[in-house]
Amino acid sequence: MWIVFIGPPGAGKGTQCSRLVEALRIPHLSTGDMLRDTNRDSALGKVVASYIDVGRLAPDYLVMPIVTKRLAERDCQLGCLFDGFPRTVHQAEQLDEFLVEREIRIDVVLHLHVAADVLLSRLLKRAELQNRKDDNQETISARLEVYRTQTAPVLQHYHDQGNVLEIDGDQPADRVFEDILSGLNRRK
Ligand code: ADP
Repeated sequence: MWIVFIGPPGAGKGTQCSRLVEALRIPHLSTGDMLRDTNRDSALGKVVASYIDVGRLAPDYLVMPIVTKRLAERDCQLGCLFDGFPRTVHQAEQLDEFLVEREIRIDVVLHLHVAADVLLSRLLKRAELQNRKDDNQETISARLEVYRTQTAPVLQHYHDQGNVLEIDGDQPADRVFEDILSGLNRRK
């Protein structure tokens, strides 16, 4: 199964993605994780950090090679869960191109939606508890704004393809997961 998971920062995407990869036994392709894993001492890592640390998106020309390299690996031949990717319409178009060449179709695009005020309070709470470099008031606002302007249009791109499944993220995590599973089952 090929699944794209889209949701704003703070929606609970990370939690649901780990449950989903376990339930479906498919590889988890998280561009956020892959970008954070680039060595901060390397030239590439420094460039990546200069974007991530201030809440901006890493440039497409850096993200795409990381994704295509991962997709070439053996475990990704039958499907994967794209988490945090594509995040721009350009990335979505590049992914379409890559998949069309291989005669692969995205089965479903999960959109986990949560109201803006709830997101903000969740992210501020997480900032207190964790020590993620991009979780402070300034970068949180930047990431929400980047989502609104650059990633929300990706949803329109997939709505036009007719494969979006809307999930209400403002519920307990177990309920959210149930909704995801029942939504996926209805599509089978
Ligand atoms: P969150 O969903 O909380 O924003 P992620 O781990 O998905 O967390 O992403 C963290 C940061 O990594 C983003 O703010 C962005 O800077 C960078 N990033 C992740 N995925 C992409 C992508 N597909 N394109 C560009 N930048 C990305």
